[in-house]
Amino acid sequence: MKLTILGNNSALPAYDRYPTCQVVTIDGTMILVDCGEAAQVLLRKHGIGWHKIRYIFISHLHGDHYFGLPGLLNSMSLLGRTDPLYLYGPSALQEIIQKILDVADTRLSYPLHFTALPEGAATLADTTLFSLKCFPVEHRIFCQGLLVTEKSKGRKLLPERCSYYQIPAAYYKKLKAGQDYEKKDGTLIKNEWVTDAGKSDKTYAYCADTIYTDSFLSYIQGADLIYHESTYLEADAERAAARFHSTARQAASVALKAGAGKLVLGHYSSKYKSVDEFEAEAKSVFPDSVASREGDVYEV
Ligand SMILES: [Zn+2]
Ligand SMILES: [Zn+2]
Repeated sequence: MKLTILGNNSALPAYDRYPTCQVVTIDGTMILVDCGEAAQVLLRKHGIGWHKIRYIFISHLHGDHYFGLPGLLNSMSLLGRTDPLYLYGPSALQEIIQKILDVADTRLSYPLHFTALPEGAATLADTTLFSLKCFPVEHRIFCQGLLVTEKSKGRKLLPERCSYYQIPAAYYKKLKAGQDYEKKDGTLIKNEWVTDAGKSDKTYAYCADTIYTDSFLSYIQGADLIYHESTYLEADAERAAARFHSTARQAASVALKAGAGKLVLGHYSSKYKSVDEFEAEAKSVFPDSVASREGDVYEV
Protein backbone atom coordinates (compact mmCIF):
# COMPACT_ATOMS: atom_id res chain seq x y z
CA MET A 1 0.00 0.00 0.00
CA LYS A 2 1.23 3.48 -0.74
CA LEU A 3 -0.07 6.98 -0.08
CA THR A 4 0.46 9.78 -2.60
CA ILE A 5 -0.08 13.32 -1.38
CA LEU A 6 -1.54 15.68 -3.98
CA GLY A 7 -3.31 18.64 -2.31
CA ASN A 8 -2.04 19.43 1.19
CA ASN A 9 -3.31 22.93 1.91
CA SER A 10 -6.45 24.04 3.72
CA ALA A 11 -9.21 26.23 2.30
CA LEU A 12 -7.26 28.45 -0.10
CA PRO A 13 -4.63 27.55 -2.67
CA ALA A 14 -1.38 29.25 -1.62
CA TYR A 15 2.36 28.99 -2.24
CA ASP A 16 1.81 26.24 -4.84
CA ARG A 17 -0.14 24.19 -2.35
CA TYR A 18 -3.71 23.13 -3.14
CA PRO A 19 -6.71 21.92 -1.11
CA THR A 20 -6.87 18.36 0.17
CA CYS A 21 -6.56 15.42 -2.19
CA GLN A 22 -4.60 12.20 -1.84
CA VAL A 23 -4.49 8.72 -3.35
CA VAL A 24 -4.07 5.37 -1.62
CA THR A 25 -2.92 2.57 -3.96
CA ILE A 26 -3.21 -1.11 -3.11
CA ASP A 27 -2.19 -3.68 -5.73
CA GLY A 28 -3.17 -1.33 -8.55
CA THR A 29 -6.53 -0.33 -7.06
CA MET A 30 -6.79 3.36 -6.17
CA ILE A 31 -8.79 5.07 -3.47
CA LEU A 32 -9.09 8.82 -3.84
CA VAL A 33 -9.28 10.46 -0.42
CA ASP A 34 -10.98 13.85 -0.63
CA CYS A 35 -11.12 15.78 -3.87
CA GLY A 36 -10.12 19.43 -3.53
CA GLU A 37 -10.56 21.71 -6.50
CA ALA A 38 -7.17 20.99 -8.12
CA ALA A 39 -7.62 17.21 -8.02
CA GLN A 40 -7.80 16.66 -11.80
CA VAL A 41 -4.80 18.87 -12.46
CA LEU A 42 -2.72 17.21 -9.75
CA LEU A 43 -3.66 13.68 -10.85
CA ARG A 44 -2.50 14.53 -14.37
CA LYS A 45 0.62 16.35 -13.19
CA HIS A 46 1.74 13.33 -11.16
CA GLY A 47 0.87 10.79 -13.84
CA ILE A 48 -1.83 9.01 -11.85
CA GLY A 49 -4.24 7.11 -14.10
CA TRP A 50 -7.84 8.07 -13.33
CA HIS A 51 -9.17 4.77 -14.62
CA LYS A 52 -7.57 2.99 -11.67
CA ILE A 53 -9.59 5.03 -9.16
CA ARG A 54 -12.32 2.68 -7.97
CA TYR A 55 -13.31 4.34 -4.70
CA ILE A 56 -13.67 7.99 -3.72
CA PHE A 57 -14.04 9.01 -0.10
CA ILE A 58 -15.23 12.53 0.79
CA SER A 59 -14.70 13.22 4.47
CA HIS A 60 -17.00 16.25 4.77
CA LEU A 61 -18.67 18.97 2.78
CA HIS A 62 -16.36 21.91 3.30
CA GLY A 63 -15.51 22.96 -0.24
CA ASP A 64 -11.77 22.38 0.08
CA HIS A 65 -12.55 18.64 0.31
CA TYR A 66 -14.89 18.14 -2.64
CA PHE A 67 -15.06 21.08 -5.04
CA GLY A 68 -12.91 19.06 -7.45
CA LEU A 69 -15.35 16.17 -7.52
CA PRO A 70 -17.92 17.28 -10.15
CA GLY A 71 -15.13 18.06 -12.60
CA LEU A 72 -13.40 14.75 -12.02
CA LEU A 73 -16.61 12.72 -12.38
CA ASN A 74 -17.40 14.58 -15.59
CA SER A 75 -13.91 14.09 -17.04
CA MET A 76 -14.03 10.36 -16.30
CA SER A 77 -17.23 10.24 -18.35
CA LEU A 78 -15.75 12.28 -21.21
CA LEU A 79 -12.91 9.78 -21.32
CA GLY A 80 -15.45 6.96 -21.72
CA ARG A 81 -15.06 5.22 -18.39
CA THR A 82 -17.28 2.15 -18.07
CA ASP A 83 -16.00 0.65 -14.79
CA PRO A 84 -18.22 1.31 -11.77
CA LEU A 85 -17.10 3.99 -9.32
CA TYR A 86 -17.89 3.79 -5.61
CA LEU A 87 -18.40 7.13 -3.90
CA TYR A 88 -18.68 7.57 -0.13
CA GLY A 89 -19.58 10.90 1.43
CA PRO A 90 -22.05 12.80 3.61
CA SER A 91 -25.64 12.15 2.48
CA ALA A 92 -26.16 15.61 0.94
CA LEU A 93 -23.37 14.94 -1.56
CA GLN A 94 -25.58 12.69 -3.65
CA GLU A 95 -28.12 15.45 -4.21
CA ILE A 96 -25.40 18.01 -4.97
CA ILE A 97 -23.80 15.81 -7.62
CA GLN A 98 -27.14 14.81 -9.13
CA LYS A 99 -28.19 18.45 -9.44
CA ILE A 100 -24.94 19.38 -11.18
CA LEU A 101 -25.41 16.52 -13.65
CA ASP A 102 -29.11 17.28 -14.21
CA VAL A 103 -28.73 20.97 -15.03
CA ALA A 104 -26.06 20.09 -17.59
CA ASP A 105 -28.20 17.25 -18.99
CA THR A 106 -25.24 14.95 -18.42
CA ARG A 107 -25.45 11.19 -18.16
CA LEU A 108 -22.30 9.56 -16.86
CA SER A 109 -20.81 6.81 -19.02
CA TYR A 110 -20.27 4.59 -15.97
CA PRO A 111 -22.27 3.43 -12.94
CA LEU A 112 -21.74 5.70 -9.94
CA HIS A 113 -22.62 3.95 -6.69
CA PHE A 114 -23.13 6.36 -3.83
CA THR A 115 -23.09 5.37 -0.17
CA ALA A 116 -23.93 7.93 2.51
CA LEU A 117 -21.54 7.94 5.44
CA PRO A 118 -23.27 6.93 8.70
CA GLU A 119 -23.02 8.93 11.93
CA GLY A 120 -20.69 6.46 13.61
CA ALA A 121 -17.89 4.09 12.59
CA ALA A 122 -18.67 1.57 9.84
CA THR A 123 -17.12 -0.74 7.28
CA LEU A 124 -17.55 0.80 3.82
CA ALA A 125 -15.80 -1.82 1.70
CA ASP A 126 -14.30 -5.21 2.43
CA THR A 127 -12.40 -7.14 -0.24
CA THR A 128 -9.90 -9.99 -0.06
CA LEU A 129 -7.10 -7.40 -0.33
CA PHE A 130 -8.22 -4.54 1.88
CA SER A 131 -10.98 -2.91 3.88
CA LEU A 132 -12.18 0.67 4.16
CA LYS A 133 -13.70 1.86 7.42
CA CYS A 134 -14.89 5.30 8.42
CA PHE A 135 -14.75 6.71 11.92
CA PRO A 136 -16.12 9.96 13.34
CA VAL A 137 -13.77 12.86 13.98
CA GLU A 138 -14.77 16.21 15.53
CA HIS A 139 -15.13 19.11 13.15
CA ARG A 140 -17.41 22.12 12.76
CA ILE A 141 -19.71 20.06 10.53
CA PHE A 142 -20.23 16.29 10.17
CA CYS A 143 -16.89 14.77 9.24
CA GLN A 144 -15.45 11.25 9.05
CA GLY A 145 -11.92 9.89 8.98
CA LEU A 146 -10.91 6.84 6.94
CA LEU A 147 -9.06 3.72 7.94
CA VAL A 148 -7.53 1.69 5.10
CA THR A 149 -6.29 -1.77 6.03
CA GLU A 150 -4.28 -3.85 3.59
CA LYS A 151 -4.89 -7.42 4.64
CA SER A 152 -2.10 -9.86 5.24
CA LYS A 153 -1.79 -12.43 2.48
CA GLY A 154 -1.01 -15.04 5.11
CA ARG A 155 2.27 -16.83 5.71
CA LYS A 156 4.83 -16.74 2.90
CA LEU A 157 5.75 -20.02 1.23
CA LEU A 158 9.42 -20.99 0.93
CA PRO A 159 9.26 -22.86 -2.42
CA GLU A 160 12.56 -24.73 -2.07
CA ARG A 161 11.57 -26.07 1.35
CA CYS A 162 8.13 -27.07 0.08
CA SER A 163 9.64 -29.09 -2.75
CA TYR A 164 12.30 -30.57 -0.45
CA TYR A 165 9.52 -31.97 1.75
CA GLN A 166 7.51 -32.91 -1.38
CA ILE A 167 4.40 -31.03 -0.34
CA PRO A 168 1.79 -31.04 -3.13
CA ALA A 169 0.86 -27.60 -4.55
CA ALA A 170 -2.79 -28.30 -3.72
CA TYR A 171 -1.85 -27.95 -0.05
CA TYR A 172 -0.14 -24.53 -0.38
CA LYS A 173 -3.29 -22.59 0.51
CA LYS A 174 -3.46 -24.39 3.85
CA LEU A 175 0.24 -23.72 4.47
CA LYS A 176 -0.38 -19.99 3.90
CA ALA A 177 -3.17 -20.21 6.46
CA GLY A 178 -0.66 -21.62 8.98
CA GLN A 179 -1.45 -25.35 8.93
CA ASP A 180 1.12 -28.13 9.29
CA TYR A 181 1.37 -30.89 6.66
CA GLU A 182 1.16 -34.59 7.44
CA LYS A 183 2.75 -36.97 4.94
CA LYS A 184 1.13 -40.27 4.05
CA ASP A 185 3.67 -42.12 6.25
CA GLY A 186 2.56 -39.98 9.21
CA THR A 187 5.64 -37.68 9.26
CA LEU A 188 4.60 -34.20 10.36
CA ILE A 189 6.09 -31.23 8.47
CA LYS A 190 5.83 -28.18 10.72
CA ASN A 191 4.46 -25.06 9.09
CA GLU A 192 7.42 -22.92 10.20
CA TRP A 193 9.82 -25.25 8.34
CA VAL A 194 8.29 -24.36 4.99
CA THR A 195 6.93 -20.82 5.45
CA ASP A 196 7.90 -17.54 7.07
CA ALA A 197 5.67 -14.99 8.74
CA GLY A 198 4.96 -12.91 5.61
CA LYS A 199 3.56 -9.40 5.82
CA SER A 200 1.13 -8.51 8.60
CA ASP A 201 -1.91 -6.27 8.08
CA LYS A 202 -0.95 -2.68 7.23
CA THR A 203 -3.09 0.25 8.27
CA TYR A 204 -3.34 3.83 7.10
CA ALA A 205 -5.49 6.27 9.11
CA TYR A 206 -6.68 9.48 7.49
CA CYS A 207 -7.71 11.84 10.28
CA ALA A 208 -9.56 14.44 8.30
CA ASP A 209 -10.35 17.95 9.48
CA THR A 210 -10.66 17.71 13.23
CA ILE A 211 -10.17 19.55 16.46
CA TYR A 212 -7.55 18.03 18.79
CA THR A 213 -9.30 15.17 20.57
CA ASP A 214 -8.78 11.68 21.96
CA SER A 215 -12.26 10.64 20.86
CA PHE A 216 -11.20 8.58 17.83
CA LEU A 217 -7.95 7.17 19.23
CA SER A 218 -9.41 3.68 19.59
CA TYR A 219 -10.03 3.47 15.82
CA ILE A 220 -6.50 4.42 14.79
CA GLN A 221 -4.58 2.62 17.55
CA GLY A 222 -1.41 1.01 16.20
CA ALA A 223 -1.81 2.39 12.66
CA ASP A 224 1.36 2.07 10.59
CA LEU A 225 0.79 5.49 9.04
CA ILE A 226 -1.37 8.38 10.21
CA TYR A 227 -2.21 11.52 8.28
CA HIS A 228 -3.46 14.14 10.72
CA GLU A 229 -4.42 17.64 9.75
CA SER A 230 -2.21 20.40 11.14
CA THR A 231 -3.78 23.61 9.96
CA TYR A 232 -1.80 25.71 12.43
CA LEU A 233 1.34 25.81 14.54
CA GLU A 234 1.04 25.61 18.31
CA ALA A 235 1.36 29.41 18.67
CA ASP A 236 -2.10 29.55 17.04
CA ALA A 237 -3.64 26.81 19.20
CA GLU A 238 -6.55 29.03 20.27
CA ARG A 239 -7.44 29.84 16.70
CA ALA A 240 -7.15 26.14 15.80
CA ALA A 241 -9.61 25.15 18.54
CA ALA A 242 -12.06 27.92 17.65
CA ARG A 243 -12.16 26.63 14.04
CA PHE A 244 -12.21 22.94 14.93
CA HIS A 245 -8.72 22.40 13.56
CA SER A 246 -5.46 21.12 15.07
CA THR A 247 -1.85 22.22 15.41
CA ALA A 248 1.24 20.26 14.34
CA ARG A 249 2.06 19.61 17.99
CA GLN A 250 -1.43 18.28 18.66
CA ALA A 251 -1.28 16.03 15.58
CA ALA A 252 2.00 14.61 16.90
CA SER A 253 0.43 14.05 20.29
CA VAL A 254 -2.36 12.01 18.67
CA ALA A 255 0.22 9.93 16.74
CA LEU A 256 2.15 9.32 19.95
CA LYS A 257 -0.93 8.22 21.90
CA ALA A 258 -2.01 5.99 19.01
CA GLY A 259 1.39 4.27 18.93
CA ALA A 260 1.60 5.06 15.21
CA GLY A 261 4.50 4.03 13.01
CA LYS A 262 4.72 7.36 11.21
CA LEU A 263 2.88 10.69 11.07
CA VAL A 264 2.27 12.74 7.92
CA LEU A 265 1.11 16.34 8.34
CA GLY A 266 -0.95 18.46 5.97
CA HIS A 267 -3.95 20.80 5.52
CA TYR A 268 -1.74 23.82 6.23
CA SER A 269 -3.25 27.25 6.60
CA SER A 270 -2.36 29.59 3.75
CA LYS A 271 -0.93 32.04 6.29
CA TYR A 272 2.26 29.94 6.39
CA LYS A 273 4.69 30.23 3.50
CA SER A 274 6.99 27.41 4.62
CA VAL A 275 5.92 24.10 6.17
CA ASP A 276 9.33 23.36 7.70
CA GLU A 277 8.23 24.58 11.12
CA PHE A 278 5.31 22.15 11.14
CA GLU A 279 7.71 19.26 10.82
CA ALA A 280 10.07 20.57 13.50
CA GLU A 281 7.20 21.18 15.94
CA ALA A 282 5.74 17.70 15.41
CA LYS A 283 9.12 15.97 15.64
CA SER A 284 9.66 17.45 19.11
CA VAL A 285 6.73 15.29 20.30
CA PHE A 286 6.75 12.41 17.80
CA PRO A 287 10.11 11.97 16.05
CA ASP A 288 8.80 10.04 13.04
CA SER A 289 6.81 12.99 11.72
CA VAL A 290 7.00 14.53 8.28
CA ALA A 291 5.40 17.65 6.79
CA SER A 292 3.90 16.44 3.49
CA ARG A 293 4.79 18.10 0.21
CA GLU A 294 2.86 17.74 -3.04
CA GLY A 295 3.86 14.54 -4.81
CA ASP A 296 5.25 12.81 -1.73
CA VAL A 297 4.77 9.04 -1.74
CA TYR A 298 4.74 7.09 1.53
CA GLU A 299 4.99 3.30 1.54
CA VAL A 300 2.96 1.62 4.25
ZN1 LIG B 1 -10.46 21.48 5.17
ZN1 LIG C 1 -13.29 21.37 7.13
